Amino acid sequence: MKLVVQVRLLPTPEQVAALEATLRACNDAANFASATAFTTGDRREYALRKHTYREVKARGLGAQAAQHVIKKVADAYTTLKANIRAGNLGSEGCARRIRAESKPVAFRADAAQPFDDRCLSWDHTARTVSIWTTTGRVKNVAFVGSLGQLKMLAVYRKGESDLVCRDGMWFLYATCEIPDVPVTEPDGFIGVDVGIANIATTSDGARHCGKGLNAVRHRNRELRRRLQAKATKSAKRLLKKRRRREARFAADTNHTIAKQIVTEAERTGRGIALEDLGGIRDRVRLRKPQRVTLHSWSFHQLGSFIAYKAALHGVAVIHVDPAYTSQTCSACGHVDKANRPSQATFSCTSCGFAEHADVNAARNIASRGVAGWAVSHAADDAA
Ligand SMILES: [Zn+2]
Repeated sequence: MKLVVQVRLLPTPEQVAALEATLRACNDAANFASATAFTTGDRREYALRKHTYREVKARGLGAQAAQHVIKKVADAYTTLKANIRAGNLGSEGCARRIRAESKPVAFRADAAQPFDDRCLSWDHTARTVSIWTTTGRVKNVAFVGSLGQLKMLAVYRKGESDLVCRDGMWFLYATCEIPDVPVTEPDGFIGVDVGIANIATTSDGARHCGKGLNAVRHRNRELRRRLQAKATKSAKRLLKKRRRREARFAADTNHTIAKQIVTEAERTGRGIALEDLGGIRDRVRLRKPQRVTLHSWSFHQLGSFIAYKAALHGVAVIHVDPAYTSQTCSACGHVDKANRPSQATFSCTSCGFAEHADVNAARNIASRGVAGWAVSHAADDAA
């Protein structure tokens, strides 16, 4: 399994200057290569290299950096093509797509740049990196990260890392290749229901509420409203910064929740059953203020964090059809809209079973997990 581990660099002011100059030089070169790709129509790495390698290298980039710059440009065009094909930029002839197709892909002066082992070396004991820059090799750049991340880096880091500057902070995104852990045969499943008020609720009754996160989102929404009225450049910059901070906070929250759920599953020898979230936007009907806080990507992120943390520990994960999990009685199986008299409560009109609505839903997800696992493994046995 491939994982990206992020560490923060703590460069000195001189080191910052070197890193900034390097990103700028790489991205200037990338814009040159991008313009060439655009005018010649040669957007594949090999063809593009023939046109641009000499010039890119002559701009003070070494052979490695020049190759990475050209590959980065080729990759950007591949991504653009894929996005157009997938319809992400709208249909043919629409303004957004025309804008994207009518000019070269542009790189910001501080856009991320990949570094391979020849340009970047790691000292895990000293927690420093030595990195190639346009002003020579910069040594002893300190880095920090969580204990788990640092351990993973020291053991499994392999291949390229991206140098990223974000809101004045410097990061390395390093790729780790982690060997597969065999999946333990689960003894039952923990069901996980995702929602707004409670980000995740388990069939054991653990509710991970999003109070902190929802408060941050609410505050930012108010701020956005005030700043958008201004529409100045500095207001826009502040907005962008806030949005990123909110995304980081949401990711931290999701990491913590995912970790707790996976730890509990591993401790009790169970697997994890998740909702298949394909249609969450259609399924969740909310009053307007809540609809604004609904970020379906946040649910997907939680699902993917759970999936990879589970894979690291050999915990089984299964995705189940979420249809009617909120209206179905987890005790007797009776399905009725009236079982759910309010957002928070579940009360079965047939057998009288009562439970918090999210816990009831999570219990349904858990039993669907058990059934789904049995079916998929019956198929395995027959094969
Ligand atoms: Zn019932």
